Amino acid sequence: MATDIDGNAVASDVRDGLQDAIDTLADAGHRPGLATVLMSDDPASETYVSMKQRDCEEVGIEGVHVEIDPEAPAEELFDAIDDLNARDDVHGYLVQMPVPDHVDKRRVIRSVAPEKDVDGFHPENVGRLVAGDARFKPCTPHGVQKLLEAYDVETEGADAVVVGRSEIVGKPMANLLVQKAPGGNATTTVCHSRTDDLAAKTREADIVVAAAGVPEMITGDMLSEGSVVVDVGINRVDADTEKGYELIGDVDYDSATEQASLITPVPGGVGPMTRAMLLWNTVKAASEQTGVDVDL
Ligand code: NDP
Repeated sequence: MATDIDGNAVASDVRDGLQDAIDTLADAGHRPGLATVLMSDDPASETYVSMKQRDCEEVGIEGVHVEIDPEAPAEELFDAIDDLNARDDVHGYLVQMPVPDHVDKRRVIRSVAPEKDVDGFHPENVGRLVAGDARFKPCTPHGVQKLLEAYDVETEGADAVVVGRSEIVGKPMANLLVQKAPGGNATTTVCHSRTDDLAAKTREADIVVAAAGVPEMITGDMLSEGSVVVDVGINRVDADTEKGYELIGDVDYDSATEQASLITPVPGGVGPMTRAMLLWNTVKAASEQTGVDVDL
């Protein structure tokens, strides 16, 4: 039986570790500021931004929230972006995706000032990550890296399989695992929907990171004994619960736990880490913009 990787505990440690840095910034007269921009009435997006705002409040980061009517012209969003790029009190911000169809998503990503792009999605920041000179590591893969570190999982020389190649999870995850740097040096395979015989790939892996968005697609028989399994997936499926749904991962926990040595549960695994690493990136942004050195 695998041991659960406790994402809530590691995230709490990350947040505690940020406190000194936030205090150092405060002593120098600066409070880190994080803004969220929402141009959507999707309840899930609303929940995500309100959680991010609550996280800010808890650690002493100034939260700013900007809401744009989803029916408004795209230029309203771009004006808000220009405004946030210019504000001294906002060190980092993100535009909650998805944006409405009439807004060019790629232009949004390109318009965020790279030094405030705490999601790490701007092409300059993607390029820096790939070049081994990351400014902001995207929050989810960075969180996975921290979880592996916290549980002493040796990535160097390990065979890692990442299932999924999205810009926000799969690709940056693979980039971090393959980097010639601590938390990297893994021999990394990236799988996707066109991969032939996925199970043959995952069965060879010491570390499997599942980020496909397909409920319980990774089953125990697809894993090698003793492997480390990180389940990034958050899938809302109909269920006989008060809310009418439940959240499940991309890994079939019950069968996977029979094979794996370590496994992240859903919820309580990667999710809390994503949120913690957004705060981490915000503090890093504040330190760089104010010139106040902090220990991160
Ligand atoms: P995307 O839909 O953008 O990407 C999914 C990727 O998985 C694609 O590359 C796709 O391949 C691949 N894929 C889909 N089906 C299969 C399959 N049957 N076999 C192999 N590969 C497959 O999703 P995201 O990366 O944004 O998110 C992935 C999951 O992680 C979702 O459940 C999401 O909710 C969750 N998530 C969780 C976070 C957290 O904090 N825990 C943060 C972000 C996301 P192709 O490219 O060929 O289409």
